[in-house]
Amino acid sequence: MIVVMSPRHTRAEREGVVRKVEEAGLRAQVTEGVERTVIGVIGDSHTKELLREGLEAMAGVESVVRILQPYKLVSREFHGGRDSTVWVRNVAIGGGRVVVIAGPCSVESPRQVIETARAVKLAGAQLLRGGAFKPRTSPYSFQGLEEDALKILAEVREATGLPIVTEAMDARQLELVVKYADMVQIGARNMQNYTLLRDVGRAGHPVLLKRGPSATVEELLLAAEYIMAEGNSNIVLCERGIRTFETYTRYTLDLTAVPVLKRLSHLPVIVDPCHGTGKWKLVTPMARAAVAAGADGLLVEVHPEPDRALSDGPQQLTPQNFAVMMQELDAIALAVGRRV
Ligand code: PEP
Ligand code: MN
Repeated sequence: MIVVMSPRHTRAEREGVVRKVEEAGLRAQVTEGVERTVIGVIGDSHTKELLREGLEAMAGVESVVRILQPYKLVSREFHGGRDSTVWVRNVAIGGGRVVVIAGPCSVESPRQVIETARAVKLAGAQLLRGGAFKPRTSPYSFQGLEEDALKILAEVREATGLPIVTEAMDARQLELVVKYADMVQIGARNMQNYTLLRDVGRAGHPVLLKRGPSATVEELLLAAEYIMAEGNSNIVLCERGIRTFETYTRYTLDLTAVPVLKRLSHLPVIVDPCHGTGKWKLVTPMARAAVAAGADGLLVEVHPEPDRALSDGPQQLTPQNFAVMMQELDAIALAVGRRV
């Protein structure tokens, strides 16, 4: 439920609403918009319903609106209709420039990461990625360098100034990732690991939440709701391809999800055209399409020698191809009134 304050309400009137909500044992979340201030009311539905008429009658209140969707905090209404911005150190994701996160699928060596980081930074990337704990389909595939990889990423951040994003698959890994990294990735396979979602919600660190390969848009938003319900609103959603009958591509990149998510939620939405297609030659065309569709950013895998990569070789760009992609994105962004 949200309380929409009238345009010229006073501070005392707003505080009165918050007090009434809290006295009923509910939580109030105030969002100040340019035109409107809204107060989100969080908690038990029955208590909210009992409170509704009383709130509607209060001075300074314009209306009280029920949120009909199952997800509440992540819904666009809850944020006064505006986009939210997620800060990862000094980088803002959402509502402005198109932000590009780039780097290898897996951290393999200090040299591989520093080389890649320097190249992607030069080409305009703003955040560095690299997997330390890898969710591999086979237990016999390379599983990641774990804490050694986190140390490499942290050193490369010192050298380049690029904030780092990396995945955690369980609570123990999360503790380590939070210690070293600036943003925690919750991978596609863990999108519905509700315990992990709660943990990352409590950790408070910015989160990159990837859509599960078989998850609907609503399930993705409910996964984000788990994180936000723990008090962490620094969430970026990521479309990374879903399972369909098509086998030519690794997954089917659902670009429709971009405008749909932007309409339903205030959270920033980025696209991963690498996992979405599985083929490096398709990455740049789909990255262009993602920006044209309104994505707030991209997640792109880049490796100095994709042929020798320990994971996801066929879908990683060389630094050269990444630079070409970035130039092309500039033109697309300009055409839709954005900048990279
Ligand atoms: C990754 O980003 O390297 C990764 C494993 O992604 P996903 O969870 O989308 O498969
Ligand atoms: Mn990968």
